[in-house]
Amino acid sequence: MIEFRNTEKVYPNGAKALKDVNFKIESGEFVFCIGESGAGKSTLIRLITCEEKPTKGTVILDNFELSRLQKRLIPTLRRKIGMIFQDFRLIDSKTVYENVAFAMEIVGSSKAQIKRRVPMVLSVVGLRNKADSYPSELSGGEAQRVGVARAMINNPGLILADEPTGNLDPINGEAILALLEEINQAGTTVICCTHDVSLVDLMQKRVLELDRGVLVRDEECGVYSDCIVERELNFERSDIDIAELDEAIFDNLRYEERKRLARREKQSAEIKSMIDEDRRKRRNRLSLAERIAKMRMLAEDIDLDDYEKRN
Ligand code: ADP
Repeated sequence: MIEFRNTEKVYPNGAKALKDVNFKIESGEFVFCIGESGAGKSTLIRLITCEEKPTKGTVILDNFELSRLQKRLIPTLRRKIGMIFQDFRLIDSKTVYENVAFAMEIVGSSKAQIKRRVPMVLSVVGLRNKADSYPSELSGGEAQRVGVARAMINNPGLILADEPTGNLDPINGEAILALLEEINQAGTTVICCTHDVSLVDLMQKRVLELDRGVLVRDEECGVYSDCIVERELNFERSDIDIAELDEAIFDNLRYEERKRLARREKQSAEIKSMIDEDRRKRRNRLSLAERIAKMRMLAEDIDLDDYEKRN
């Protein structure tokens, strides 16, 4: 999905942010990018989002060589990427609901799509009951969960998180990473830049380490400390109103089913069996990852419907 090939970035002031960096990230991976402040982590992210161009070498995303990408295609590329920032970057004058909805508005989603999808995603991050709150009324952990909801709302193939736990206490930091892991398990590639060593140890994912612009380590299941604390990620599931989320998902499945019945009998039969399967699974409680995967499917269906309407 992403490849850096002999990539170098020297800023106009002479600062060498990346030196001959080579790595490949496959679709569906979860990768930490670590390193001290100034190591080049943000530059690496900015090269992927086309905010900067490499001075040598190439960056490839989904088979596109980014430095050759026409300027007019950059917004299209960015729609495939969800961003999470250390300082949350929420719009203070908008509510939680409006902050997340805004990310759908700017990519041209319809009001109906927004109305269906935003409550579902807020349920996933455990913030349905904060939909009408303003950012100033949220804790840091809650604000970052809005950041996660906003990043996943358009069903991106890739999430780039730049120090997402930098302003959070360890418990909230863990909760955010647990959410990212669930989103990753539902199929989204995640790159998480951090210098939070304890969280990297805990997650045991692939680690890319930068040191003054040089990629000094590319390790599967990277671990930092000698003593790994064996414990489960302790994401507060009770925050999430599971029944409410299930209801929203099943409502949407039924809605989709009705639309399909009108147009495509074959597909509606498939959805129906999916609902039956879901009802069966419901007794065993779907994992959050499964719910997210289901929402991704719904979002794709909705896009398809729109596409067909327009064409
Ligand atoms: P990190 O995110 O790991 O802290 P950065 O990618 O922000 O690292 O920075 C890497 C190096 O590039 C640093 O030496 C920094 O001073 C320099 N740098 C980053 N952005 C710019 C810029 N816009 N102009 C000039 N130098 C920059």
